[in-house]
Amino acid sequence: MADRTLKNKRTYVNTDLCIACVSCVAIDDTDTFFMDEDDGWANTKDNNLALEEAAMVCPTQAIFIKSLEEFKQQKERAENDPDN
Ligand code: SF4
Repeated sequence: MADRTLKNKRTYVNTDLCIACVSCVAIDDTDTFFMDEDDGWANTKDNNLALEEAAMVCPTQAIFIKSLEEFKQQKERAENDPDN
């Protein structure tokens, strides 16, 4: 189980942006990325890794690397200001 400390960076997939090209799964040698059989999009296992190479190969910028704290702040901002 990954360390759940709020300030640790981790890698996420925004499935709204994923086009299921599988590039992230192909380049990831940590086996963190997988194609979700339920919805068909890429996703990540629980992790505390900054998988920069996968983010670089993603054609739609669906992969982002943030701490849980940053993720929550971004989500709050988006909910409070849906135009940004
Ligand atoms: S590289 Fe990006 S678009 Fe391709 S499967 Fe992974 S997250 Fe989805």
